[in-house]
Amino acid sequence: MTSGPAAPAPPATTASALLRGSPLPALEARVLLCHALGWRRTELITRGDEPLGEQAEAAFRALEGKRAAGVPIAQIVGMREFYGLAFDVTPDVLIPRPETELLVETALDAISTIARPRVLDLGTGSGAIAIAIAVARPDASVTAVDRSPAALTVAARNAAKLLDPARPGGPVTWLQGDWYGALASCPEARFDAIVSNPPYIAARDPHLDEGDLRFEPRGALTDESDGLSAFRAIIAHASSFLAHGGHLWLEHGYDQAEAVRALLMACGFENVGSLRDLAGIERTTGGSRA
Ligand code: GLN
Repeated sequence: MTSGPAAPAPPATTASALLRGSPLPALEARVLLCHALGWRRTELITRGDEPLGEQAEAAFRALEGKRAAGVPIAQIVGMREFYGLAFDVTPDVLIPRPETELLVETALDAISTIARPRVLDLGTGSGAIAIAIAVARPDASVTAVDRSPAALTVAARNAAKLLDPARPGGPVTWLQGDWYGALASCPEARFDAIVSNPPYIAARDPHLDEGDLRFEPRGALTDESDGLSAFRAIIAHASSFLAHGGHLWLEHGYDQAEAVRALLMACGFENVGSLRDLAGIERTTGGSRA
């Protein structure tokens, strides 16, 4: 009896085939495939037709499945680029957003003429704002506050990875607590600039239950109120922690600029104004202490 021909081995898959067959948006599929294979983006092209092993395919399928279940890309790959720096991201922190780069640029502008400026970041999360400022201004002394110890762990890890330990401004000071309450041990502290991207989504905003926001820490997104309570708290006490002429700049939602300007003016701030992000939306509002 003759044995029949052996069943042909299934054709090995390739990166090109996995990308073609993925239900994900092309950019997302490319990011996840690079992560699964440990490849650079260009290798998807130069090695696109190379046969891949079953393990590589399984690794990609696992990531694809997470994304299909809604997990944000930044959490799947554990990283998001912000201000040209690669920040570690976990479910304990808000994923840095491109529009927040405007807050960094604005703060850097505000301190551009000050030597060894002192900067405070309230609600630092991953540390993106504080660390981006500290990298751009090695002489700045930077303090950053968050009420979440888990977030501060991520932020400190990012600083260890991204900051020169010999920077003249010294290491970032990480403080746990509620806004200025975290500064209770240093009541004399005065800053040339205070910045914050606080939770500003109103509790009843349906976006909280949609898309990537479902996977981010709710406390980083919403004040569980009208979306303005963090601004009220931060603005009301800012003058006690600002040097004369010091600047306060805040990121806010697309429809909150007027309300934030009103809060600043009611607290006696000068030069109150708002700046538009790349989408043309008033995104950042600030003023200076009289
Ligand atoms: N910009 C974020 C969003 O709308 C909100 C972040 C925040 O509340 N600070 O998704």
